[in-house]
Amino acid sequence: MTRHDMLGQMLEQHGPWDLIVVGGGATGVGVALDATTRGYRVLLLEQSDFGKGTSSRSTKLVHGGVRYLQQGNVPLVMEALHERGILRQNAPHLVRELAFVVPNYLWWEAPFYGIGMRVYDMLAGRHGFGHSQVLTSEELLLRIPTLEREGLRGGVLYHDGQFDDSRLLIDLARTAYAKGACLLNYTPVLSLQKDGAGYVNGVVFRDDESGREHTVTARCVINATGAFSDALRRMDDPSASPMIAPSQGVHIVLHKKFLGGDTAIMVPRTRDDRVMFAIPWHEHTVVGTTDTPISEVSLEPRPLSEEIDFILETASGYLAEPPTRADILSAFAGIRPLVKAGEAGNTAALSREHTIQISKAGLVTIAGGKWTTYRKMAEDCVNYAATLAGLDEKPCVTRDLHIHGYHLSAPPFGAYADYGEDALLLAGLVEGRPDLGAVLDPDAPILAAQVFWAVRHEMALTVDDVLARRTRLLSLNARAAMRVAPAVARVMAAELGKAEDWEKAQVAEFTAIAERYLPV
Ligand SMILES: Cc1cc2nc3c(=O)[nH]c(=O)nc-3n(C[C@H](O)[C@H](O)[C@H](O)COP(=O)(O)OP(=O)(O)OC[C@H]3O[C@@H](n4cnc5c(N)ncnc54)[C@H](O)[C@@H]3O)c2cc1C
Repeated sequence: MTRHDMLGQMLEQHGPWDLIVVGGGATGVGVALDATTRGYRVLLLEQSDFGKGTSSRSTKLVHGGVRYLQQGNVPLVMEALHERGILRQNAPHLVRELAFVVPNYLWWEAPFYGIGMRVYDMLAGRHGFGHSQVLTSEELLLRIPTLEREGLRGGVLYHDGQFDDSRLLIDLARTAYAKGACLLNYTPVLSLQKDGAGYVNGVVFRDDESGREHTVTARCVINATGAFSDALRRMDDPSASPMIAPSQGVHIVLHKKFLGGDTAIMVPRTRDDRVMFAIPWHEHTVVGTTDTPISEVSLEPRPLSEEIDFILETASGYLAEPPTRADILSAFAGIRPLVKAGEAGNTAALSREHTIQISKAGLVTIAGGKWTTYRKMAEDCVNYAATLAGLDEKPCVTRDLHIHGYHLSAPPFGAYADYGEDALLLAGLVEGRPDLGAVLDPDAPILAAQVFWAVRHEMALTVDDVLARRTRLLSLNARAAMRVAPAVARVMAAELGKAEDWEKAQVAEFTAIAERYLPV
């Protein structure tokens, strides 16, 4: 999958595309994959890198959403649990079962959450990930020895799914590419085109690599720009009233020792009446998230000091040795593209279900939902778009579609298991070129081979692409990521044919981004 090839495809397209998708997050790439596997000609345009928006900044859970069960939103939970099962079936190299406990400190919590989790199991039906059970405090401490012991009465164990969001996104993009879709990163859409009757029939975008602008036409344009949806809707209709209520969610990342094992903690009710997680991920502990309504959306949202305080304070209620600010290796923020539901002030209560809106001029906007349900969102969206565009009706085939890298026994590949089948190719690459087997930094177990791979096969153009989304070092340890940046830039420059100036500029640009991941 190379950008050169994608650009070639784009230039060679004669006549309109069937669909143009704007936005290269889970929603847009999911739509492109669905449409291309039905046989439609699809162009996807992403203003930055694939996953630069919210889709690389999630809690990394493939889940039904225990919180929505608490809210009584059973259809949403059932749909998400169903999709959880489909995703594990189609991308077993990236979606894994993870054990969670709800620690109980009050007498009524064990029966209350015990029943709740049994309902969660039942709603999953044959897509279940394992049965929940009530644990004694001794059993609980065997799983999570770091739990606060005072007042601990036991807990409830349940199972859910975990994944690597940006790695899945790249694999989805590669699957779509292999099936014939054209996907371009660093191509912001600048304006929409309309035909004589006022219907949207194309876009103008800029290729940020060359600086050139292109006009491309389509039978239907799909706005999958997440938190940015309203900006694109206003390109269609400057008077469109906002449909997104953006809300920021922050995670902090700590050393693995804070959980001391492979079991996650679910805090069922925080001070502000939400759930919070502490999760083992890539040999670290990820704790979050918050839900802070914001007025401005940006591609690099910054965790607020009070959000970090809140996470630390919540963690201190559950961990015997509470983490402090000094323990934070990285802190990252993402923006939920929540669809407005009236004038509700609390975004935690807004709809997580997806919404598809079709404007008078025929622009299709798909927003909301969650990573777990990206496939169903795409199916629904393409159904509408195909009808609107007058395309031949073709059935959705993604339910049983293996995602790139599909491999049933990826765990033997150790740290590179997330590459699935590609781990074998990576190993072969290192065998043929031992220089690529070099670990770039002792605290950052990234091989030169992974950098090379990201450039050659995964359309990585910047140091940020490699360290934030093709590998996950920026989210895991921002200082280590800054240290390793010059070595990454060197490997990239050799592969991309860039000069020393480029390396320096890349390191400076990345350092400015990475500083935003250090807690304020
Ligand atoms: C803190 C947090 C935790 C979450 N945790 C989970 C979880 O554990 N599990 C789960 O299932 N879901 C989770 N979610 C939800 C999930 O991450 C989102 O629903 C999903 O990633 C949204 O994807 P998207 O493609 O709609 O948006 P995005 O990923 O933001 O993609 C939109 C893209 O559009 C691009 N774009 C914008 N304007 C333009 C333009 N003019 N031209 C071209 N491109 C443009 C942007 O650059 C961006 O990349 C979480 C969300 C948050 C915020």
